Amino acid sequence: MRIVSDPARMLQLAEEARREGKSIGLVPTMGALHEGHLSLVRRCRTENELAVMTLFVNPIQFDRRDDLARYPRDPDRDTALAQTAGADLIYAPAAEAMYPPGYATYVTVEGLTDRWEGATRPGHFRGVATVCTKLFAACRPYRAYFGQKDYQQALAIRRLVADLNLGLEIVVLPTVREADGLALSSRNALLTRQERRQAPVLSQALFAAQSAVRSGERDAETLRAGIEATIRTAESAVVDYVAVCDRDTLEPLVRIGRRAVALVAARFGSVRLIDNVLLDV
Ligand code: AMP
Repeated sequence: MRIVSDPARMLQLAEEARREGKSIGLVPTMGALHEGHLSLVRRCRTENELAVMTLFVNPIQFDRRDDLARYPRDPDRDTALAQTAGADLIYAPAAEAMYPPGYATYVTVEGLTDRWEGATRPGHFRGVATVCTKLFAACRPYRAYFGQKDYQQALAIRRLVADLNLGLEIVVLPTVREADGLALSSRNALLTRQERRQAPVLSQALFAAQSAVRSGERDAETLRAGIEATIRTAESAVVDYVAVCDRDTLEPLVRIGRRAVALVAARFGSVRLIDNVLLDV
């Protein structure tokens, strides 16, 4: 497996692969890999001739300096795991190579990113959209793989790719969870034992809403309030938002129709976690 850090070299390799008619698949990650990331790499492996995983903790998508400083990093472990999952190439540029002095170009997806994560994390999606555009430009993928866990992110990337005619397919794969329902996240490692015990309340609240919808509940506010009340039963949880909204626009709903999603964000001590489920009627 190859590890490439120079953006110009990455582009050269991607162009060579394209000339040889190889399909390139891309899995953008910030490392600290877990089964969620690896599920994306495995799928990328099966659907493409060149499976590229990126390893880059993108400074411009962090709205809090302390969050960036303590983001877990373990490139040696990540490299070994990515290789086992079938990655052919790891693209791991340095921050200085991505954003050298004088760097001035940013990508903003309007509307979709105003709410929820966008409202609570100023600049976050601008950072995500910018880095993804740069990674797509350097790696020239036919397909890029994202997790449903970051629902709003996946939607924003789809919008970005369509709006800028980037000509690649965005594949979104289901959230991988711990046995107790907690969505895998690199940040879970930062939870104290007590917070870790309480964190599954997020998925429990979401699954309860899913079954309420299956049993006929259609009032969005009843569902939203139910999710929030369940999360509040965990004493270490501080709710950032709970939303029951349209799956495509992320506008809050009054009644549940065919295309609803429930999104949550809450802090457990200093660790902020997000989760979501589709609400199928
Ligand atoms: P990150 O390293 O957190 O930027 O995540 C890289 C990719 O992995 C993103 O597309 C995430 O949505 C995805 N991802 C993170 N956690 C999970 C999970 N538990 N299940 C599936 N995909 C995930």
